[in-house]
Amino acid sequence: MTRFSRATPDWARELVISVCAEHQVSPPLVVRWAHRDRAASSGVTRSDSGAISVVAGHDQLDQRLTLLHELAHWLLPAPRRWRRRRAAHHDARFYALAFPLYLANGLTDAEAIAREAAHYPSSLRHARALGVPGAEAAWRERRRLLAGRRGILRVLVPEHRVALARDGRWTVCSVCGQRIVGPNLVRLRRRGGRHTLLTREAAS
Ligand SMILES: [Zn+2]
Ligand SMILES: [Zn+2]
Repeated sequence: MTRFSRATPDWARELVISVCAEHQVSPPLVVRWAHRDRAASSGVTRSDSGAISVVAGHDQLDQRLTLLHELAHWLLPAPRRWRRRRAAHHDARFYALAFPLYLANGLTDAEAIAREAAHYPSSLRHARALGVPGAEAAWRERRRLLAGRRGILRVLVPEHRVALARDGRWTVCSVCGQRIVGPNLVRLRRRGGRHTLLTREAAS
């Protein structure tokens, strides 16, 4: 029998029992539920002590997603050596279980993708690989935003054959002037090669 803390809503109790029954896994020994005055929820699952804890914010869907996320951890205990590094087990194996669980339990594709990504941006990559509808577009949009934040790469000098020259202490390409060091220098000395001079411009 699972012990639920008093604040655990009925829907959450039912979800814990039904999801574990469906996956033929015994339910956690303890489910702790607390409320906080904020939108998002957070959760922790301790497989070794048999406990799931949720700190629920006011966003109802985020509560549901958070509980389902923790249930996915419960159904799929992390290898022992990973238990102390929580983020390490948000991997392809985890999301292959978590996303179908979200979709089977009241979240739409769009909600599951957006909310999980709000907690763990790396989940977009897995949602995309799993073919969750809308994940491809969300993943592209995120890449576009990240590229914008880092600045835009522009070609300053088009591709050309590298011509090595000395410039004081440095070896440079005499066509574009960029310094060439380390393994690149060794390779270019030996075999020559081509390159392009790129510049990063701040995003507008
Ligand atoms: Zn997690
Ligand atoms: Zn050059």
